[in-house]
Amino acid sequence: MKLSLTFDIEMCTNFPYWSDVWDHRKGAIDEQTRRHIEQLADLALELGVRFQWFVLGAAVQADDIAYLRRLVGEGHAVGNHTYHHVNVKAQRFEDLQIVYNQDPLKLRGAATPLDVIADEISATSDLLEHHLGTRPRGFRTPGGFGNGLQDAPAVQGLLQQHGFAYCSGHYDCELPTERPFDWSELERGVGESVRALQPYRYPNGLPEIPMMGISDIHAYRVRDLDRGEFTRLLEHGIHVAAQEDLTFSVLLHPQVQACRDPHGGMVRRLVEKALSLGGEVVTNDQIAAAVG
Ligand SMILES: [Zn+2]
Repeated sequence: MKLSLTFDIEMCTNFPYWSDVWDHRKGAIDEQTRRHIEQLADLALELGVRFQWFVLGAAVQADDIAYLRRLVGEGHAVGNHTYHHVNVKAQRFEDLQIVYNQDPLKLRGAATPLDVIADEISATSDLLEHHLGTRPRGFRTPGGFGNGLQDAPAVQGLLQQHGFAYCSGHYDCELPTERPFDWSELERGVGESVRALQPYRYPNGLPEIPMMGISDIHAYRVRDLDRGEFTRLLEHGIHVAAQEDLTFSVLLHPQVQACRDPHGGMVRRLVEKALSLGGEVVTNDQIAAAVG
């Protein structure tokens, strides 16, 4: 089995407190989150593994990006997550991202929402190359889609034109909503997600590496699970992947982990579990090279 732990570097609403709203400050990576990313890099060094990261262009343009340079220097994979966390399926300008509604001049007279999305993607790749010396191989859509990019062939084409080795935009994990949860139903939902969302190719040939099982946002914000429950569910996903020789790619956010798993204990446990079951811990960049 292959385990990939993916981290989207951005600020997430409702973390660390339910009352926190960061939508207007996308890319404003705070000190605690930067420090947590360094802790995760320490952990990766200690365990001899690499993680997959996706970063906003706005975060690359911040003052202190030593932590991002460190990730690249230590062999982690850093992909593109757009500049402002835009909705890549937006058909109307007002659906792109709130920053454009607040300041329409930022649209710079673009003819279509797709033009804005293309600019966001190319600006972010250029910033990564300029500031970190590496061009991203992977693209992650802001927000996951239950059907990936299957209904967005123009976006598939755009990513291919921009030379991405893969997209990661498909997320689907059906779980019961009512507490008290039937634990076996939660595990079944995670297992089904891992089985159903194995990497595949879009009709144009672009590989898709979905976000499988349950994400940290889904676990903590939507289901209000605690860390022990979330960890058990991800461990179940690892077991399913190990038994059936599947890939398990998990979506996490350093800013969420910084407050919910501040010592990285969950991440350590997942890596150690995968390795103990004979699995490999890989980046999405490595998975993409092997998509049939
Ligand atoms: Zn995101």
